[in-house]
Amino acid sequence: MNYEREFGVSPGSRVRLRKLDPQQTDKDEDKHSASRKVAKLQQRMDELQFQLYAENKRSLLICLQALDAGGKDGVVRHVIGSMNPQGCRVTSFKQPNSEELAHDFLWRVEQKTPRRGEVVIFNRSHYEDVIVVRVHDLVPKPVWSQRYEQINAFERRLITSGTHILKFFLHISKEEQLERFKDRLDDKSRWWKISESDYSEREYWNDYASAYEDALSKCSTADAPWYVIPSDHKWFRNLAISRIIADKLEALRIQVPKPTVNIADIRKKYHAAERDGK
Ligand code: ATP
Ligand code: MG
Repeated sequence: MNYEREFGVSPGSRVRLRKLDPQQTDKDEDKHSASRKVAKLQQRMDELQFQLYAENKRSLLICLQALDAGGKDGVVRHVIGSMNPQGCRVTSFKQPNSEELAHDFLWRVEQKTPRRGEVVIFNRSHYEDVIVVRVHDLVPKPVWSQRYEQINAFERRLITSGTHILKFFLHISKEEQLERFKDRLDDKSRWWKISESDYSEREYWNDYASAYEDALSKCSTADAPWYVIPSDHKWFRNLAISRIIADKLEALRIQVPKPTVNIADIRKKYHAAERDGK
């Protein structure tokens, strides 16, 4: 199965989340084969990220969006955790503070975009400004409805300056979300994660779905595509995302800079004694 084709949102198409099965997996894979493959892909991503860092020209921005318990933290840990922290950064976007609210919604995001050579993961992103903001009427409709175009223009600008963008929506079912909340209740080490609002937000499930459908449909572009990843099965979610990211890094055909010194000379000059057993 080609995950990129299977889960990528074609630019201009209309996403209907109800028609996409959050339980979908790949019939050729199971939990065990997937975990072997993820391990290999992690190794490959680590190598490619090191090359991207060495090349120091382009960067990769990965946006993760999901409802609560959708698995963003799991993706950060399992999929991206293998990369070298030098050259890799995760930024979580929470409720904006007063300074951030005093600026345009993209102000805080702009500052966290990747430098050349970096891989940056947005755990939530500027898309919150057309999702939670819309669901809870935090700004008037005429304001949020202009943001899709503003987001597309912003991402276009980043692309022009050498940033590659991948955006993942982790699609889980309402039942799976409740299961995961219940699991948290049974695990003392995760009690700190539980909040009353996790449950009350479930009343807005359909509003979130509509907001996501609009964001995914209006903001999936050829250069900054959205992927809707079936995420009820964590093993499949990890496999699909690792594959898409590794393939993307591979497709960049990263050029590691040529050495600035003559390697043979250096070897002769400083290591000859070692070789001759002196
Ligand atoms: P966890 O998995 O640990 O719960 P989280 O990303 O849900 O991680 P929280 O601190 O629980 O982190 O929630 C952050 C909250 O901030 C979310 O409810 C999100 O919708 C909200 N938020 C993020 N960006 C904005 C924004 N621009 N405007 C309003 N709320 C926002
Ligand atoms: Mg939360």
